[in-house]
Amino acid sequence: MASLFLCTDQPHDLAITFLNSQNIRGTMKIALFGPPGAGKGTQARYIVEKFNIPQISTGDLLRAQVRAGTDLGKTAREYMDKGALVPDGIVIGMLEERIKEDDCKDGFILDGFPRSISQAEALKDIVTLDEVVNIVVDESALVRRITGRRMCKCGATFHIDLNPPKKEGTCDQCGGSLYQRDDDREETVLNRLKVYRSQTQPLVELYKGVGILKDFDGNRSIDEISSDILSYLSK
Ligand code: ADP
Ligand code: ADP
Ligand code: ZN
Repeated sequence: MASLFLCTDQPHDLAITFLNSQNIRGTMKIALFGPPGAGKGTQARYIVEKFNIPQISTGDLLRAQVRAGTDLGKTAREYMDKGALVPDGIVIGMLEERIKEDDCKDGFILDGFPRSISQAEALKDIVTLDEVVNIVVDESALVRRITGRRMCKCGATFHIDLNPPKKEGTCDQCGGSLYQRDDDREETVLNRLKVYRSQTQPLVELYKGVGILKDFDGNRSIDEISSDILSYLSK
């Protein structure tokens, strides 16, 4: 395993932690963690608005490829429909290209990446994260959140009863029609949660070891969570 993830009591890890705390002043390179349905996309929009940095959602990038009918999109879709992770070769390349763009130079919010140890390893060769915001939600709430989720093409996310739009089926932000994601069906959701537990959750301990991960109680209202996250990131 790479040095970034060795025990924190080793001297070179302390150096890495120090480097990260220096970075906070200059840039805001954030990853949002949490199981499917935790509220990552919802919270990302508040961070975008407050700090004026772009949200990079690998799920959104993949869905754009699926919609465009590219070869990459066709391959990705086979995995997404099953609730499995899309292979690293596709996702890492896509992420790397996006981070190189000019709007990312002072910071960004990663939403849905990294999702496995191999992706975290690849990320550390691309960029050093300053903060990992981990949204913790009781598993019993997640299926309801995901199956009731409704999306807009503009990126806004609603819930049929937990966070309803003002007018049913219509986006509050842009007036677009809301739709349900293909993979937000209950059968697929259960597999996505299983994949999260086995492949993504181990990253929580890894980034805790590096000293940059903070847990946020995601079982509260959207506003309570966002005010907590925004005040933490403002420090
Ligand atoms: P993720 O990006 O982590 O998969 P989303 O931000 O899309 O999660 O949220 C999943 C669903 O739960 C959406 O329908 C959203 O409106 C709703 N939601 C988000 N945060 C909360 C919250 N704190 N309480 C209740 N519902 C929420
Ligand atoms: P959620 O917000 O519910 O967690 P996402 O929109 O982030 O879902 O991801 C939807 C699907 O896209 C995932 O189930 C997976 O198939 C694929 N995907 C997104 N990000 C990644 C990633 N970093 N690595 C592999 N697959 C990914
Ligand atoms: Zn919209």
